Amino acid sequence: MRVSALLLVTLRDDPAEAEIPSHRLLLRAGYIRRVASGIYAYLPLMWRVLRKVSAIVREEMDATGALETLLPQLQPAELWQRSGRWAGYTAGEGIMFHLQDRQERELGLGPTHEEVITALAADLLRSYRQLPVSLYQIQSKFRDEIRPRFGLMRGREFIMKDAYSFHASAEDLAREFGVMEKAYGRIFRRCGLQALAVEADSGAIGGSASKEFMVTAAAGEDLILRSADGSYAANQERAESVAQPALALEAERCTLLETPAQGTIEALCDAHGFHPSQIIKVILLVARFEQGRAQPVLVSLRGDQQLNEVKLSNALQQDHAQDWGSLLSLQALEATQLADASYLPLGFIGPDLGDAVLRGSPQLESSFLRLADHTALALDCFVCGANRADQHRVGAQWGQHGLAAPMALDVRCALEGDGLIDEPTQTLCSSRGIEVGHIFQLGRKYSEALDARFTNEQGRDEALWMGCYGIGVSRLAQAAVEQHHDEAGIVWPVPIAPFEVVVVIASTKEPVQVELAERLYSELKASGVDVLLDDRNERAGVKFKDAELIGIPWRLVVGRGAAEGVVELVERAGNARRDGAPAELMAALKERLQQQRLGL
Ligand code: ATP
Ligand code: MG
Repeated sequence: MRVSALLLVTLRDDPAEAEIPSHRLLLRAGYIRRVASGIYAYLPLMWRVLRKVSAIVREEMDATGALETLLPQLQPAELWQRSGRWAGYTAGEGIMFHLQDRQERELGLGPTHEEVITALAADLLRSYRQLPVSLYQIQSKFRDEIRPRFGLMRGREFIMKDAYSFHASAEDLAREFGVMEKAYGRIFRRCGLQALAVEADSGAIGGSASKEFMVTAAAGEDLILRSADGSYAANQERAESVAQPALALEAERCTLLETPAQGTIEALCDAHGFHPSQIIKVILLVARFEQGRAQPVLVSLRGDQQLNEVKLSNALQQDHAQDWGSLLSLQALEATQLADASYLPLGFIGPDLGDAVLRGSPQLESSFLRLADHTALALDCFVCGANRADQHRVGAQWGQHGLAAPMALDVRCALEGDGLIDEPTQTLCSSRGIEVGHIFQLGRKYSEALDARFTNEQGRDEALWMGCYGIGVSRLAQAAVEQHHDEAGIVWPVPIAPFEVVVVIASTKEPVQVELAERLYSELKASGVDVLLDDRNERAGVKFKDAELIGIPWRLVVGRGAAEGVVELVERAGNARRDGAPAELMAALKERLQQQRLGL
Protein backbone atom coordinates (compact mmCIF):
# COMPACT_ATOMS: atom_id res chain seq x y z
CA MET A 1 0.00 0.00 0.00
CA ARG A 2 1.21 3.50 -0.88
CA VAL A 3 0.83 6.23 1.71
CA SER A 4 -0.32 8.56 -1.08
CA ALA A 5 -3.37 6.30 -1.49
CA LEU A 6 -4.01 5.66 2.19
CA LEU A 7 -6.35 8.56 2.96
CA LEU A 8 -4.00 9.38 5.83
CA VAL A 9 -5.34 12.41 7.68
CA THR A 10 -3.32 13.16 10.78
CA LEU A 11 -3.94 16.01 13.22
CA ARG A 12 -1.17 18.26 14.42
CA ASP A 13 -2.86 19.25 17.68
CA ASP A 14 -4.32 17.19 20.46
CA PRO A 15 -8.07 16.87 19.99
CA ALA A 16 -9.97 18.44 22.88
CA GLU A 17 -12.34 15.49 23.27
CA ALA A 18 -9.57 13.07 24.28
CA GLU A 19 -8.49 12.67 27.89
CA ILE A 20 -6.15 9.68 27.79
CA PRO A 21 -3.08 9.04 25.60
CA SER A 22 -4.50 6.15 23.56
CA HIS A 23 -7.66 8.05 22.66
CA ARG A 24 -5.64 11.12 21.75
CA LEU A 25 -3.23 9.15 19.60
CA LEU A 26 -5.86 7.13 17.73
CA LEU A 27 -7.62 10.38 16.79
CA ARG A 28 -4.45 12.26 15.91
CA ALA A 29 -2.94 9.45 13.88
CA GLY A 30 -6.06 9.02 11.77
CA TYR A 31 -7.31 5.70 13.14
CA ILE A 32 -10.76 6.70 14.35
CA ARG A 33 -13.28 9.52 14.09
CA ARG A 34 -16.11 10.24 16.49
CA VAL A 35 -19.56 10.15 14.88
CA ALA A 36 -21.60 10.68 18.05
CA SER A 37 -21.10 10.11 21.77
CA GLY A 38 -19.59 6.62 22.16
CA ILE A 39 -19.96 5.92 18.44
CA TYR A 40 -16.86 5.81 16.25
CA ALA A 41 -15.90 5.18 12.65
CA TYR A 42 -12.96 2.78 12.31
CA LEU A 43 -10.85 4.31 9.53
CA PRO A 44 -8.84 2.03 7.20
CA LEU A 45 -5.76 1.87 9.47
CA MET A 46 -7.90 0.97 12.49
CA TRP A 47 -9.80 -1.62 10.56
CA ARG A 48 -6.52 -3.35 9.68
CA VAL A 49 -5.63 -3.47 13.39
CA LEU A 50 -9.06 -4.80 14.31
CA ARG A 51 -8.83 -7.47 11.62
CA LYS A 52 -5.47 -8.57 12.94
CA VAL A 53 -6.76 -8.75 16.51
CA SER A 54 -9.81 -10.66 15.28
CA ALA A 55 -7.62 -13.09 13.34
CA ILE A 56 -5.65 -13.92 16.50
CA VAL A 57 -8.86 -14.31 18.50
CA ARG A 58 -10.28 -16.55 15.75
CA GLU A 59 -7.22 -18.78 15.59
CA GLU A 60 -7.18 -19.30 19.33
CA MET A 61 -10.94 -19.88 19.55
CA ASP A 62 -10.81 -22.35 16.66
CA ALA A 63 -7.97 -24.14 18.47
CA THR A 64 -10.25 -24.75 21.48
CA GLY A 65 -12.73 -26.44 19.14
CA ALA A 66 -15.29 -23.62 19.30
CA LEU A 67 -17.39 -23.09 16.16
CA GLU A 68 -17.72 -19.64 14.63
CA THR A 69 -21.25 -18.36 14.08
CA LEU A 70 -23.07 -15.05 13.65
CA LEU A 71 -26.17 -14.25 15.66
CA PRO A 72 -28.71 -11.48 15.07
CA GLN A 73 -28.19 -8.12 16.73
CA LEU A 74 -31.92 -7.39 16.76
CA GLN A 75 -33.40 -9.52 19.50
CA PRO A 76 -37.05 -10.00 20.46
CA ALA A 77 -38.06 -8.70 23.91
CA GLU A 78 -39.80 -11.99 24.55
CA LEU A 79 -36.50 -13.89 24.99
CA TRP A 80 -35.30 -11.32 27.51
CA GLN A 81 -38.60 -11.43 29.34
CA ARG A 82 -38.23 -15.18 29.68
CA SER A 83 -34.74 -14.83 31.20
CA GLY A 84 -36.06 -12.11 33.50
CA ARG A 85 -33.59 -9.48 32.20
CA TRP A 86 -35.81 -7.26 30.00
CA ALA A 87 -36.78 -4.82 32.73
CA GLY A 88 -33.30 -4.62 34.25
CA TYR A 89 -31.74 -3.95 30.83
CA THR A 90 -34.30 -1.45 29.55
CA ALA A 91 -35.68 0.47 32.54
CA GLY A 92 -33.80 2.53 35.14
CA GLU A 93 -30.06 2.41 34.45
CA GLY A 94 -30.55 -0.36 31.87
CA ILE A 95 -28.14 -0.19 28.95
CA MET A 96 -30.07 -1.93 26.17
CA PHE A 97 -31.14 0.18 23.20
CA HIS A 98 -34.67 -0.92 22.45
CA LEU A 99 -37.37 -0.09 19.96
CA GLN A 100 -40.75 -1.09 18.57
CA ASP A 101 -41.21 -2.42 15.06
CA ARG A 102 -44.11 -1.45 12.78
CA GLN A 103 -46.25 -4.13 14.40
CA GLU A 104 -45.47 -2.61 17.78
CA ARG A 105 -43.43 -5.61 18.85
CA GLU A 106 -40.59 -4.74 21.18
CA LEU A 107 -37.02 -5.48 20.18
CA GLY A 108 -33.62 -4.83 21.74
CA LEU A 109 -30.23 -4.27 20.11
CA GLY A 110 -27.94 -6.97 21.48
CA PRO A 111 -25.71 -5.85 24.36
CA THR A 112 -24.83 -9.56 24.79
CA HIS A 113 -26.25 -12.84 23.49
CA GLU A 114 -27.02 -15.30 26.30
CA GLU A 115 -30.76 -15.28 25.54
CA VAL A 116 -30.46 -15.82 21.78
CA ILE A 117 -27.86 -18.56 22.09
CA THR A 118 -29.74 -20.39 24.83
CA ALA A 119 -32.93 -20.37 22.78
CA LEU A 120 -30.91 -21.84 19.90
CA ALA A 121 -29.41 -24.46 22.19
CA ALA A 122 -32.91 -25.42 23.32
CA ASP A 123 -33.76 -26.00 19.69
CA LEU A 124 -30.57 -27.74 18.52
CA LEU A 125 -29.33 -29.74 21.48
CA ARG A 126 -31.16 -32.90 22.56
CA SER A 127 -28.68 -35.41 23.88
CA TYR A 128 -25.50 -35.64 25.93
CA ARG A 129 -23.94 -37.09 22.76
CA GLN A 130 -23.93 -33.58 21.21
CA LEU A 131 -22.04 -32.16 24.20
CA PRO A 132 -19.83 -30.35 24.94
CA VAL A 133 -20.19 -27.72 22.27
CA SER A 134 -18.99 -24.10 22.04
CA LEU A 135 -20.01 -21.35 19.64
CA TYR A 136 -18.45 -17.93 19.18
CA GLN A 137 -18.93 -14.82 17.10
CA ILE A 138 -17.17 -11.51 16.48
CA GLN A 139 -19.57 -8.63 15.92
CA SER A 140 -20.73 -5.21 17.06
CA LYS A 141 -22.52 -4.96 20.37
CA PHE A 142 -24.71 -2.08 21.50
CA ARG A 143 -24.85 -0.68 25.01
CA ASP A 144 -26.31 2.66 25.97
CA GLU A 145 -23.55 3.27 28.51
CA ILE A 146 -24.26 5.87 31.17
CA ARG A 147 -20.83 7.41 30.65
CA PRO A 148 -19.37 6.57 27.25
CA ARG A 149 -15.79 7.78 27.26
CA PHE A 150 -12.16 7.33 26.31
CA GLY A 151 -12.91 6.56 22.67
CA LEU A 152 -13.12 2.84 21.97
CA MET A 153 -12.61 2.00 25.66
CA ARG A 154 -16.24 2.56 26.55
CA GLY A 155 -18.28 2.90 23.40
CA ARG A 156 -21.98 2.56 22.83
CA GLU A 157 -21.31 0.47 19.74
CA PHE A 158 -18.19 -1.69 19.95
CA ILE A 159 -16.76 -4.96 18.69
CA MET A 160 -16.87 -7.99 20.94
CA LYS A 161 -15.97 -11.62 20.60
CA ASP A 162 -18.45 -13.61 22.62
CA ALA A 163 -18.47 -17.36 23.06
CA TYR A 164 -20.92 -19.69 24.76
CA SER A 165 -20.36 -23.29 25.78
CA PHE A 166 -22.85 -26.03 26.69
CA HIS A 167 -22.10 -29.01 28.89
CA ALA A 168 -23.61 -32.11 30.43
CA SER A 169 -22.13 -31.42 33.89
CA ALA A 170 -20.71 -28.74 36.15
CA GLU A 171 -17.34 -30.54 36.04
CA ASP A 172 -17.19 -30.36 32.27
CA LEU A 173 -18.07 -26.66 32.40
CA ALA A 174 -15.24 -26.09 34.87
CA ARG A 175 -12.86 -27.93 32.51
CA GLU A 176 -13.88 -25.72 29.57
CA PHE A 177 -13.49 -22.61 31.75
CA GLY A 178 -9.88 -23.68 32.28
CA VAL A 179 -9.39 -24.21 28.53
CA MET A 180 -10.77 -20.73 27.80
CA GLU A 181 -8.64 -19.15 30.50
CA LYS A 182 -5.52 -20.56 28.82
CA ALA A 183 -6.71 -19.51 25.35
CA TYR A 184 -7.31 -15.99 26.67
CA GLY A 185 -3.81 -15.87 28.11
CA ARG A 186 -2.42 -16.78 24.68
CA ILE A 187 -4.60 -14.23 22.86
CA PHE A 188 -3.45 -11.32 25.01
CA ARG A 189 0.18 -12.42 24.88
CA ARG A 190 0.05 -12.74 21.11
CA CYS A 191 -1.45 -9.24 20.86
CA GLY A 192 1.56 -7.95 22.78
CA LEU A 193 -0.42 -7.12 25.92
CA GLN A 194 0.44 -7.62 29.53
CA ALA A 195 -2.81 -8.90 31.00
CA LEU A 196 -3.63 -10.30 34.41
CA ALA A 197 -6.48 -12.68 35.27
CA VAL A 198 -8.41 -11.49 38.34
CA GLU A 199 -11.45 -12.65 40.28
CA ALA A 200 -14.47 -10.67 39.16
CA ASP A 201 -18.02 -9.77 39.98
CA SER A 202 -20.46 -11.58 37.73
CA GLY A 203 -22.72 -8.51 37.44
CA ALA A 204 -25.96 -8.56 35.51
CA ILE A 205 -24.84 -11.60 33.50
CA GLY A 206 -25.13 -13.78 36.61
CA GLY A 207 -23.63 -17.18 37.38
CA SER A 208 -20.96 -18.30 39.79
CA ALA A 209 -17.23 -18.21 39.06
CA SER A 210 -15.96 -15.45 36.82
CA LYS A 211 -12.59 -14.00 35.92
CA GLU A 212 -11.64 -10.78 34.19
CA PHE A 213 -8.50 -10.13 32.18
CA MET A 214 -6.98 -6.78 32.97
CA VAL A 215 -4.45 -4.86 30.95
CA THR A 216 -2.53 -2.91 33.53
CA ALA A 217 -2.46 0.80 32.70
CA ALA A 218 -2.74 4.02 34.67
CA ALA A 219 -5.80 5.06 32.64
CA GLY A 220 -7.70 1.87 33.55
CA GLU A 221 -11.20 2.34 34.95
CA ASP A 222 -10.93 -0.70 37.23
CA LEU A 223 -8.95 -1.06 40.42
CA ILE A 224 -7.18 -4.36 40.98
CA LEU A 225 -6.10 -5.59 44.40
CA ARG A 226 -3.47 -8.26 44.62
CA SER A 227 -1.14 -9.89 47.05
CA ALA A 228 2.59 -9.53 46.60
CA ASP A 229 3.06 -13.30 46.15
CA GLY A 230 0.55 -13.34 43.27
CA SER A 231 -1.72 -15.87 44.99
CA TYR A 232 -4.65 -13.43 44.99
CA ALA A 233 -5.83 -10.85 42.49
CA ALA A 234 -9.34 -9.44 42.27
CA ASN A 235 -11.28 -6.53 40.88
CA GLN A 236 -12.12 -4.12 43.70
CA GLU A 237 -15.82 -4.64 42.85
CA ARG A 238 -15.38 -8.19 44.04
CA ALA A 239 -12.31 -8.20 46.31
CA GLU A 240 -12.59 -9.34 49.90
CA SER A 241 -10.00 -8.45 52.52
CA VAL A 242 -9.27 -8.02 56.19
CA ALA A 243 -9.59 -4.31 57.00
CA GLN A 244 -6.90 -2.62 59.03
CA PRO A 245 -7.91 -2.70 62.68
CA ALA A 246 -9.81 0.28 64.06
CA LEU A 247 -8.26 2.44 66.77
CA ALA A 248 -10.03 1.85 70.07
CA LEU A 249 -12.14 4.75 71.30
CA GLU A 250 -11.81 5.51 75.00
CA ALA A 251 -15.17 6.67 76.34
CA GLU A 252 -16.84 5.71 79.58
CA ARG A 253 -20.34 6.61 78.52
CA CYS A 254 -22.21 8.06 75.61
CA THR A 255 -22.12 11.87 75.55
CA LEU A 256 -23.24 14.58 73.17
CA LEU A 257 -20.55 16.63 71.48
CA GLU A 258 -21.14 20.02 69.86
CA THR A 259 -19.70 19.80 66.35
CA PRO A 260 -20.65 23.03 64.58
CA ALA A 261 -20.19 22.76 60.80
CA GLN A 262 -18.17 19.57 61.29
CA GLY A 263 -20.28 17.50 58.93
CA THR A 264 -17.43 15.53 57.35
CA ILE A 265 -15.20 12.82 58.79
CA GLU A 266 -12.18 15.01 58.07
CA ALA A 267 -13.57 18.07 59.88
CA LEU A 268 -14.61 15.95 62.83
CA CYS A 269 -11.18 14.33 63.12
CA ASP A 270 -9.37 17.65 62.72
CA ALA A 271 -11.41 19.35 65.40
CA HIS A 272 -11.41 16.59 68.03
CA GLY A 273 -8.46 14.32 67.25
CA PHE A 274 -10.58 11.28 66.37
CA HIS A 275 -9.31 8.67 63.93
CA PRO A 276 -11.68 7.96 60.99
CA SER A 277 -11.91 4.31 62.08
CA GLN A 278 -13.59 5.45 65.33
CA ILE A 279 -16.47 7.11 63.52
CA ILE A 280 -19.56 5.55 61.95
CA LYS A 281 -20.72 7.28 58.82
CA VAL A 282 -24.15 6.76 57.35
CA ILE A 283 -25.00 6.61 53.65
CA LEU A 284 -28.59 7.00 52.43
CA LEU A 285 -29.66 5.46 49.14
CA VAL A 286 -32.78 4.55 47.23
CA ALA A 287 -33.03 1.11 45.64
CA ARG A 288 -35.59 0.89 42.84
CA PHE A 289 -37.04 -2.49 42.01
CA GLU A 290 -38.85 -3.80 38.94
CA GLN A 291 -42.25 -3.92 40.61
CA GLY A 292 -42.12 -0.21 41.38
CA ARG A 293 -40.83 -0.29 44.92
CA ALA A 294 -38.49 2.59 45.85
CA GLN A 295 -36.79 1.33 48.98
CA PRO A 296 -34.77 3.74 51.13
CA VAL A 297 -31.59 2.08 52.36
CA LEU A 298 -29.45 3.25 55.28
CA VAL A 299 -25.92 1.84 55.33
CA SER A 300 -23.56 2.27 58.27
CA LEU A 301 -19.85 2.17 57.49
CA ARG A 302 -16.68 2.71 59.45
CA GLY A 303 -15.41 6.23 58.71
CA ASP A 304 -12.19 5.01 57.08
CA GLN A 305 -14.02 2.67 54.67
CA GLN A 306 -15.80 3.18 51.36
CA LEU A 307 -19.12 1.78 50.22
CA ASN A 308 -18.87 -0.90 47.54
CA GLU A 309 -22.01 -0.35 45.49
CA VAL A 310 -21.52 -3.52 43.48
CA LYS A 311 -21.52 -5.66 46.60
CA LEU A 312 -24.50 -3.76 47.99
CA SER A 313 -26.47 -4.10 44.72
CA ASN A 314 -25.73 -7.82 44.60
CA ALA A 315 -26.93 -8.25 48.18
CA LEU A 316 -30.14 -6.29 47.52
CA GLN A 317 -30.83 -8.24 44.34
CA GLN A 318 -30.19 -11.55 46.06
CA ASP A 319 -32.34 -10.83 49.12
CA HIS A 320 -35.26 -9.01 47.51
CA ALA A 321 -35.63 -9.83 43.80
CA GLN A 322 -37.93 -12.70 44.70
CA ASP A 323 -40.44 -10.32 46.32
CA TRP A 324 -39.91 -7.04 44.50
CA GLY A 325 -38.49 -8.05 41.10
CA SER A 326 -35.00 -7.19 39.80
CA LEU A 327 -33.08 -4.28 41.23
CA LEU A 328 -33.20 -1.53 38.58
CA SER A 329 -31.05 1.15 40.17
CA LEU A 330 -29.33 2.21 43.34
CA GLN A 331 -28.83 5.92 43.81
CA ALA A 332 -28.12 8.40 46.57
CA LEU A 333 -31.20 9.58 48.43
CA GLU A 334 -31.49 13.29 47.74
CA ALA A 335 -33.00 15.60 50.30
CA THR A 336 -35.28 16.88 47.52
CA GLN A 337 -37.00 13.48 47.42
CA LEU A 338 -38.33 14.08 50.94
CA ALA A 339 -41.53 15.93 51.74
CA ASP A 340 -39.62 18.09 54.20
CA ALA A 341 -35.91 18.27 53.48
CA SER A 342 -35.25 20.10 56.73
CA TYR A 343 -35.74 16.80 58.57
CA LEU A 344 -32.50 15.50 57.19
CA PRO A 345 -29.50 16.72 59.21
CA LEU A 346 -26.96 15.84 56.50
CA GLY A 347 -23.48 15.30 57.92
CA PHE A 348 -24.91 14.58 61.37
CA ILE A 349 -26.92 11.43 60.72
CA GLY A 350 -26.59 8.37 62.93
CA PRO A 351 -27.51 4.72 62.20
CA ASP A 352 -30.74 5.23 64.17
CA LEU A 353 -32.08 8.06 61.98
CA GLY A 354 -35.84 7.78 62.46
CA ASP A 355 -38.14 6.58 59.71
CA ALA A 356 -40.13 9.75 60.38
CA VAL A 357 -37.91 11.61 57.87
CA LEU A 358 -39.58 9.57 55.14
CA ARG A 359 -43.07 10.59 56.19
CA GLY A 360 -45.13 12.33 53.54
CA SER A 361 -42.93 11.17 50.64
CA PRO A 362 -45.35 9.02 48.66
CA GLN A 363 -42.71 7.90 46.13
CA LEU A 364 -40.68 6.20 48.86
CA GLU A 365 -41.37 3.26 51.16
CA SER A 366 -42.06 4.45 54.68
CA SER A 367 -39.16 2.78 56.49
CA PHE A 368 -35.43 2.28 55.91
CA LEU A 369 -33.78 -0.99 55.16
CA ARG A 370 -30.90 -0.77 57.65
CA LEU A 371 -27.61 -2.44 56.87
CA ALA A 372 -24.04 -2.19 58.12
CA ASP A 373 -20.67 -3.36 57.00
CA HIS A 374 -19.11 -6.02 59.24
CA THR A 375 -16.32 -3.62 60.22
CA ALA A 376 -18.87 -1.05 61.43
CA LEU A 377 -20.80 -3.59 63.45
CA ALA A 378 -17.56 -4.86 65.01
CA LEU A 379 -16.87 -1.52 66.75
CA ASP A 380 -17.51 -1.71 70.50
CA CYS A 381 -17.70 1.99 71.00
CA PHE A 382 -17.82 4.75 68.38
CA VAL A 383 -18.61 8.31 67.34
CA CYS A 384 -21.70 8.89 65.23
CA GLY A 385 -24.13 11.62 64.24
CA ALA A 386 -26.81 12.61 66.76
CA ASN A 387 -29.46 13.11 64.05
CA ARG A 388 -29.47 16.79 64.91
CA ALA A 389 -27.51 19.47 63.08
CA ASP A 390 -24.10 20.26 64.59
CA GLN A 391 -24.10 17.41 67.12
CA HIS A 392 -22.44 14.01 67.36
CA ARG A 393 -22.48 11.27 69.97
CA VAL A 394 -19.20 10.03 71.41
CA GLY A 395 -19.03 6.58 73.02
CA ALA A 396 -22.13 5.19 71.30
CA GLN A 397 -22.58 1.41 71.34
CA TRP A 398 -24.72 -0.95 69.31
CA GLY A 399 -27.75 -2.14 71.26
CA GLN A 400 -27.79 0.82 73.62
CA HIS A 401 -29.83 4.04 73.66
CA GLY A 402 -32.00 2.80 70.83
CA LEU A 403 -29.06 2.07 68.50
CA ALA A 404 -30.38 -1.27 67.22
CA ALA A 405 -27.71 -3.37 65.51
CA PRO A 406 -28.52 -3.55 61.77
CA MET A 407 -27.90 -6.59 59.60
CA ALA A 408 -24.18 -6.90 58.83
CA LEU A 409 -22.82 -7.66 55.37
CA ASP A 410 -19.61 -7.19 53.44
CA VAL A 411 -20.41 -3.94 51.63
CA ARG A 412 -17.09 -2.14 51.78
CA CYS A 413 -14.34 -1.74 49.22
CA ALA A 414 -11.18 -3.69 49.86
CA LEU A 415 -8.33 -1.19 50.03
CA GLU A 416 -4.63 -1.13 49.46
CA GLY A 417 -2.91 -2.07 52.70
CA ASP A 418 -5.71 -4.42 53.82
CA GLY A 419 -4.80 -7.99 54.75
CA LEU A 420 -5.27 -11.05 52.58
CA ILE A 421 -8.25 -13.11 53.83
CA ASP A 422 -6.31 -16.39 53.95
CA GLU A 423 -3.17 -14.80 55.38
CA PRO A 424 -3.90 -11.41 56.99
CA THR A 425 -0.21 -10.63 57.51
CA GLN A 426 0.17 -10.32 53.74
CA THR A 427 -1.02 -6.92 52.58
CA LEU A 428 -2.78 -6.11 49.33
CA CYS A 429 -1.43 -3.64 46.81
CA SER A 430 -3.44 -1.94 44.11
CA SER A 431 -3.05 -1.06 40.45
CA ARG A 432 -5.34 0.15 37.71
CA GLY A 433 -6.52 -2.05 34.89
CA ILE A 434 -8.51 -2.04 31.66
CA GLU A 435 -10.89 -5.00 31.45
CA VAL A 436 -10.30 -6.61 28.05
CA GLY A 437 -11.94 -9.97 28.68
CA HIS A 438 -14.35 -11.68 31.02
CA ILE A 439 -15.14 -15.39 31.35
CA PHE A 440 -18.05 -16.85 33.33
CA GLN A 441 -19.32 -20.15 34.53
CA LEU A 442 -23.00 -19.37 34.15
CA GLY A 443 -24.32 -22.69 35.38
CA ARG A 444 -27.98 -23.27 34.58
CA LYS A 445 -29.46 -19.80 35.06
CA TYR A 446 -30.30 -19.27 31.38
CA SER A 447 -30.94 -22.87 30.41
CA GLU A 448 -33.52 -23.20 33.17
CA ALA A 449 -35.20 -19.90 32.33
CA LEU A 450 -35.31 -20.63 28.60
CA ASP A 451 -35.94 -24.34 28.94
CA ALA A 452 -32.77 -25.53 27.22
CA ARG A 453 -32.62 -29.18 28.24
CA PHE A 454 -30.95 -32.41 27.16
CA THR A 455 -31.20 -36.10 27.91
CA ASN A 456 -28.27 -37.27 30.02
CA GLU A 457 -26.41 -40.57 29.88
CA GLN A 458 -28.89 -42.12 32.30
CA GLY A 459 -31.78 -41.10 30.05
CA ARG A 460 -32.97 -38.36 32.39
CA ASP A 461 -33.91 -34.90 31.22
CA GLU A 462 -31.92 -31.97 32.69
CA ALA A 463 -31.01 -28.34 32.04
CA LEU A 464 -27.75 -27.63 30.15
CA TRP A 465 -24.68 -26.28 31.94
CA MET A 466 -23.43 -23.09 30.37
CA GLY A 467 -20.36 -20.87 30.21
CA CYS A 468 -19.81 -17.55 28.43
CA TYR A 469 -16.63 -15.82 27.42
CA GLY A 470 -16.19 -12.24 26.13
CA ILE A 471 -13.33 -10.20 24.70
CA GLY A 472 -13.67 -6.52 23.90
CA VAL A 473 -11.90 -6.56 20.53
CA SER A 474 -12.07 -2.80 19.92
CA ARG A 475 -11.24 -2.01 23.56
CA LEU A 476 -8.29 -4.40 23.38
CA ALA A 477 -6.89 -2.56 20.34
CA GLN A 478 -6.99 0.75 22.19
CA ALA A 479 -5.61 -0.84 25.37
CA ALA A 480 -2.61 -1.93 23.29
CA VAL A 481 -1.96 1.73 22.46
CA GLU A 482 -2.35 2.65 26.13
CA GLN A 483 0.38 0.14 26.96
CA HIS A 484 2.56 0.89 23.93
CA HIS A 485 3.18 4.53 23.09
CA ASP A 486 5.71 7.29 23.66
CA GLU A 487 5.92 11.04 23.11
CA ALA A 488 6.14 10.68 19.35
CA GLY A 489 3.14 8.41 18.95
CA ILE A 490 1.92 4.83 18.91
CA VAL A 491 4.32 1.87 19.12
CA TRP A 492 2.26 -1.07 17.84
CA PRO A 493 3.28 -4.58 18.77
CA VAL A 494 4.11 -6.25 15.44
CA PRO A 495 1.30 -8.88 15.51
CA ILE A 496 -1.46 -6.24 15.51
CA ALA A 497 0.26 -3.34 13.70
CA PRO A 498 -1.69 -2.12 10.65
CA PHE A 499 1.54 -2.37 8.67
CA GLU A 500 4.79 -3.97 9.79
CA VAL A 501 7.20 -1.85 7.78
CA VAL A 502 7.17 1.53 6.09
CA VAL A 503 9.68 2.18 3.32
CA VAL A 504 10.30 5.92 3.24
CA ILE A 505 11.56 7.69 0.13
CA ALA A 506 13.41 10.63 1.65
CA SER A 507 13.16 12.69 -1.54
CA THR A 508 10.81 11.73 -4.36
CA LYS A 509 12.76 14.10 -6.60
CA GLU A 510 15.72 11.72 -6.62
CA PRO A 511 15.18 8.92 -9.17
CA VAL A 512 17.86 6.75 -7.52
CA GLN A 513 15.97 6.84 -4.23
CA VAL A 514 12.62 6.24 -5.88
CA GLU A 515 13.93 3.29 -7.86
CA LEU A 516 15.62 1.58 -4.92
CA ALA A 517 12.67 2.19 -2.60
CA GLU A 518 10.23 0.76 -5.15
CA ARG A 519 12.43 -2.32 -5.49
CA LEU A 520 12.64 -2.89 -1.71
CA TYR A 521 8.92 -2.29 -1.33
CA SER A 522 8.08 -4.87 -4.03
CA GLU A 523 10.46 -7.37 -2.54
CA LEU A 524 9.00 -7.03 0.95
CA LYS A 525 5.48 -7.30 -0.43
CA ALA A 526 6.43 -10.41 -2.38
CA SER A 527 7.76 -12.06 0.76
CA GLY A 528 4.47 -11.49 2.62
CA VAL A 529 5.45 -8.48 4.72
CA ASP A 530 2.68 -5.91 5.39
CA VAL A 531 4.52 -2.97 3.97
CA LEU A 532 3.77 0.68 3.24
CA LEU A 533 5.64 2.86 0.79
CA ASP A 534 5.76 6.52 1.75
CA ASP A 535 5.85 7.97 -1.75
CA ARG A 536 4.39 11.34 -0.84
CA ASN A 537 5.97 14.50 -2.12
CA GLU A 538 6.66 15.76 1.41
CA ARG A 539 9.76 16.63 3.38
CA ALA A 540 11.54 13.61 4.84
CA GLY A 541 10.97 15.00 8.35
CA VAL A 542 7.21 15.05 7.87
CA LYS A 543 7.24 11.44 6.71
CA PHE A 544 9.36 10.32 9.67
CA LYS A 545 7.01 12.10 12.08
CA ASP A 546 3.95 10.47 10.54
CA ALA A 547 5.57 7.03 10.60
CA GLU A 548 6.26 7.52 14.30
CA LEU A 549 2.81 8.89 15.05
CA ILE A 550 0.97 6.02 13.38
CA GLY A 551 3.33 3.59 15.06
CA ILE A 552 4.69 1.39 12.26
CA PRO A 553 7.16 -1.00 13.99
CA TRP A 554 9.92 -0.73 11.34
CA ARG A 555 11.06 2.08 9.06
CA LEU A 556 13.38 1.52 6.12
CA VAL A 557 14.71 4.85 4.90
CA VAL A 558 16.01 5.26 1.38
CA GLY A 559 17.82 8.60 1.39
CA ARG A 560 21.04 10.20 0.23
CA GLY A 561 23.02 7.00 0.77
CA ALA A 562 21.00 5.26 -1.93
CA ALA A 563 23.52 6.22 -4.61
CA GLU A 564 26.22 4.34 -2.68
CA GLY A 565 23.88 1.47 -1.89
CA VAL A 566 23.29 2.39 1.77
CA VAL A 567 19.89 2.53 3.51
CA GLU A 568 18.81 3.01 7.13
CA LEU A 569 16.69 0.69 9.27
CA VAL A 570 14.93 2.09 12.37
CA GLU A 571 12.97 0.11 14.93
CA ARG A 572 10.05 2.15 16.33
CA ALA A 573 10.31 0.65 19.81
CA GLY A 574 13.52 2.02 21.30
CA ASN A 575 14.46 3.92 18.12
CA ALA A 576 17.60 1.83 17.42
CA ARG A 577 19.04 2.70 13.97
CA ARG A 578 21.45 0.99 11.71
CA ASP A 579 22.90 1.72 8.25
CA GLY A 580 23.80 -0.96 5.78
CA ALA A 581 23.46 -2.51 2.38
CA PRO A 582 19.85 -3.13 1.39
CA ALA A 583 20.30 -6.91 1.07
CA GLU A 584 21.82 -7.21 4.53
CA LEU A 585 19.20 -5.04 6.26
CA MET A 586 16.34 -6.71 4.44
CA ALA A 587 17.51 -10.13 5.60
CA ALA A 588 17.86 -8.94 9.21
CA LEU A 589 14.45 -7.27 9.07
CA LYS A 590 12.66 -10.33 7.73
CA GLU A 591 14.23 -12.57 10.32
CA ARG A 592 13.32 -10.26 13.18
CA LEU A 593 9.76 -9.85 11.89
CA GLN A 594 9.27 -13.58 11.84
CA GLN A 595 10.07 -13.74 15.54
CA GLN A 596 8.05 -10.66 16.41
CA ARG A 597 4.94 -11.98 14.67
CA LEU A 598 5.05 -14.85 17.12
CA GLY A 599 5.39 -12.40 19.99
CA LEU A 600 9.06 -13.26 20.60
P1 ATP B 1 -17.41 -2.95 31.97
O1 ATP B 1 -17.34 -3.44 33.38
O2 ATP B 1 -16.14 -2.35 31.47
O3 ATP B 1 -18.61 -2.11 31.70
P2 ATP B 1 -18.69 -5.39 31.34
O4 ATP B 1 -18.24 -6.18 32.49
O5 ATP B 1 -20.04 -4.86 31.30
O6 ATP B 1 -17.63 -4.22 31.05
P3 ATP B 1 -18.82 -7.74 29.67
O7 ATP B 1 -20.28 -7.87 29.63
O8 ATP B 1 -18.03 -8.65 30.53
O9 ATP B 1 -18.43 -6.22 29.99
O10 ATP B 1 -18.30 -7.73 28.14
C1 ATP B 1 -17.18 -8.44 27.67
C2 ATP B 1 -16.06 -7.52 27.24
O11 ATP B 1 -16.51 -6.52 26.33
C3 ATP B 1 -15.48 -6.72 28.39
O12 ATP B 1 -14.52 -7.48 29.07
C4 ATP B 1 -14.87 -5.52 27.68
O13 ATP B 1 -13.58 -5.83 27.22
C5 ATP B 1 -15.78 -5.33 26.49
N1 ATP B 1 -16.70 -4.19 26.70
C6 ATP B 1 -17.75 -4.14 27.55
N2 ATP B 1 -18.38 -2.96 27.48
C7 ATP B 1 -17.71 -2.24 26.53
C8 ATP B 1 -17.89 -0.93 25.97
N3 ATP B 1 -18.88 -0.15 26.35
N4 ATP B 1 -17.01 -0.51 25.02
C9 ATP B 1 -16.00 -1.32 24.60
N5 ATP B 1 -15.80 -2.55 25.09
C10 ATP B 1 -16.63 -3.02 26.03
MG1 MG C 1 -17.18 -7.74 32.57
